[in-house]
Amino acid sequence: MKLMGKRAGILFILCVLFAVGMIFLLFTYIKDAPKWAAAPFNQHLYRSGELVRAGQILDANGKVLVSTIENERVYNSDESTRAALMHLVGDPKRGVATSLQVTYRNKLVGWNYLNGIYHFGGGIGNNIQTTVDADLARATYAALGGRRGTACVMNYKTGDLLCMVSSPSFDPANVPDIEGDPEKYDGVYINRLLSASYTPGSIFKLVTAAAAIDNLPGVQSREFVCEGSYDLLGQEITCPSVHGRQNFAETMANSCNIAYARMASELGPETMTAYAGKAGVMSGQDLDGIGVANGHFSLTGAAPGDVGWAGVGQYDTLINPLSYLEFVAAIANGGSAVTPHIIDSIKTPNGFPARFAIDLPIHENVLSGSTAGTLRQIMRAAVVNNYGEGNLAGYGLSAKSGTAEVADGKEPHSWFCGFLDDETAPLAFIVIVENGGAGKDAAANVARTVLEAAVGK
Ligand SMILES: [Zn+2]
Repeated sequence: MKLMGKRAGILFILCVLFAVGMIFLLFTYIKDAPKWAAAPFNQHLYRSGELVRAGQILDANGKVLVSTIENERVYNSDESTRAALMHLVGDPKRGVATSLQVTYRNKLVGWNYLNGIYHFGGGIGNNIQTTVDADLARATYAALGGRRGTACVMNYKTGDLLCMVSSPSFDPANVPDIEGDPEKYDGVYINRLLSASYTPGSIFKLVTAAAAIDNLPGVQSREFVCEGSYDLLGQEITCPSVHGRQNFAETMANSCNIAYARMASELGPETMTAYAGKAGVMSGQDLDGIGVANGHFSLTGAAPGDVGWAGVGQYDTLINPLSYLEFVAAIANGGSAVTPHIIDSIKTPNGFPARFAIDLPIHENVLSGSTAGTLRQIMRAAVVNNYGEGNLAGYGLSAKSGTAEVADGKEPHSWFCGFLDDETAPLAFIVIVENGGAGKDAAANVARTVLEAAVGK
């Protein structure tokens, strides 16, 4: 009996070990199988490390951006469309980590837990329809003209991104010698909309203004005096011009550093940090599961003058362009933010949905309706009185420019962000041209060209 008991005990231990092993295997399978299946060593899907067998990626109008034809990955026939959308679609060597051919490769190759890589009906993987307009992307890429930067247009009612372009780029169908020209292709694999963060400069004044409207009683009827320079508790705040006497709305159109530094100083570090948080500056959201870089805003240990400079968008503040576009879109949308999207649908070759995620746009109240309304008015006034509408008269173009000083002695970054206050074209936008100089010149010109293309002008 004693022996029997011992054997039963050993058997029991073996059974437990077997069960633990099976659970571990199952867990590892669930966790890692998608990675193994779509990994580049899978000869069925890749050749020489390049993805060959996968579904199509399409633009919002059904234009094919990439597909597999006879075991070859074939990109769109137009060279500038290919370059304009390279960061979205991806390159053959998977250099752009945020591209769909990397982040959505399991869906594209048609992998699932039940069947593995199973191509029902003989098709090749699932097809991804995106929200972008290929023609608009091409026009945007041309407008950036080879300068480093990014431009994005988003429908602020639905969250759909109509345009997401990052420059520099390259033609994924004819990959150039990137290592051979490090200067030209520096950072070429980075989608600057998603993965970069920059000093915001004056576009950050929208955050300071929102905080001031909510927390400084009577601020909208105050007069601000600018003599070009101001001593803020021992630190000099300078303005590029002497703006003289200004009302609240005029401080935005003039982009007066002294007015915004004073407001930030009165608001204090705690309120400024709270509003930077509301604007989503510190925490990058994701874009359909694709990671977005965080920004930075911290006034811990900051001197009083630093708080002033932070209110102007300088100090050590950094913003991610997509996250800031979400804030601008919330202003346009009466204070409610919508979740941005780049994927419209994922379908099997037979047209069945291959993604069942219930992903309704989350409407989050970033600002009150009245605060958003006030910001809309002063951004509209800034265009009418300062920036100009170009060919966009009648669309309610409302905007804020930014000229962000950078540390390395180069030209400042040029920003322009805003929206069309128009029910028929509810479009928010953001543009940065790195080292492009004044925001109301370089970035504003790109933005106007892109918006004209978007509304069909
Ligand atoms: Zn000023």
